[in-house]
Amino acid sequence: MDKLAIDGGPRIRTKPFPAWPIFDELEERLILEVVRSGKWGGTGRVKLPELEEKFAALHDAKHAVSIVNGTVAITIALQAAGVLPGDEVIMPPYTFIATASSALLFGAIPVFVDVEPDTMLLDPEKVEAAITSKTKAIIAVHIAGSPANLTRLKAIADKHGLRLIEDSAQAVGARWNGVGVGALGDLGTFSFQSSKNINAGEGGMILTNDREMADHAWSLANVGRIREGGWYQHETIGWNLRMTELQAAILLGQLSRLDGQMELRERNAKLLTELLHDIPGARTLRRDPQVTRHAQHLFMFRIDPELADRVNKNDVIRKLNAEGIPVSYGYVSLNRNKAVIKETKKWTGEEREYSCPNSERACDKEILWLNQNVLLAGETDMHDIAAGVRKVLTSFR
Ligand SMILES: *Cc1c(COP(=O)(O)O)cnc(C)c1O
Repeated sequence: MDKLAIDGGPRIRTKPFPAWPIFDELEERLILEVVRSGKWGGTGRVKLPELEEKFAALHDAKHAVSIVNGTVAITIALQAAGVLPGDEVIMPPYTFIATASSALLFGAIPVFVDVEPDTMLLDPEKVEAAITSKTKAIIAVHIAGSPANLTRLKAIADKHGLRLIEDSAQAVGARWNGVGVGALGDLGTFSFQSSKNINAGEGGMILTNDREMADHAWSLANVGRIREGGWYQHETIGWNLRMTELQAAILLGQLSRLDGQMELRERNAKLLTELLHDIPGARTLRRDPQVTRHAQHLFMFRIDPELADRVNKNDVIRKLNAEGIPVSYGYVSLNRNKAVIKETKKWTGEEREYSCPNSERACDKEILWLNQNVLLAGETDMHDIAAGVRKVLTSFR
């Protein structure tokens, strides 16, 4: 067998993967239209109404509220759902820190419930045991672009009178049982930060089917105004969290390519899953058949548990990177994040410990990531990835 590239052997691959973002004259033309309109702010309403309408329709939602980013989108969704300081919010620990900080930023307390080891999504079977008299909401995080089990989570939320928020930052365009994510729960939030599948540099969106919650969210993000009220009529205390017209212009351009990119990612993810399936030491994730459209923001796969106990995850990553395969480490489990623990203690006065062995083990030993742009490459590129994974993982045998 060939010597590993890290030891001076031949690299599996030197060709780069597709760059991100992808754009052309369309974005330039749309931005120019906004520039020439002179209405650049979030009250300009040049491109924003069309963006909100299209984004809601894409996800089968009735109402959309555009917002500055995906983090505060969750904060505003929680507040529009009635979550108050001191209330507990159940969420998975396997997610970006923003899921937890969005609550902690106003004194709501994240309560971590472990993920399923084979999907990395919030485990509905473990949620009920974490519900207390202080629990107000559950955040389902559609990590990597795969909807969490919304049917089960909605049933649990309804049974206990809790709100269900969907953190769909990674799941633009994803579908659960044929219905768009975002408004299957009470509210859903999205991010348009640079790495996300629809990108405006920064930006966010809130979706809901509930008119009152949409109006509440809009008001909180528009300095406490009400929709048909006067400019200096403030009914509540809110922030200015409006998205600009320039962002909306870029997003309309980006949205025009979403369908084609989603199809390509799905096709490549399917192929890569099949190829990795045959490699000793590699494990692919389970996909619930109810995930009728996966946004593939990340392609996650695992080092087989037996092998993962014998090797160092960072060593595997270094060796794969040397072969030209851009895998990365991913998250540190949020239940062990020092900032989250410290901020929680600030609000509750206690150091809370959570046992989330599936998330912790995945972070420390097993899960590897490929970013969504890698799935925008061609079929032969997927074969390169599989060849690199095979070469590196079998070198440990
Ligand atoms: C990106 C992301 C966010 C935060 O979005 P920003 O726009 O960066 O604030 C929240 N949750 C998840 C799961 C994300 O991936």
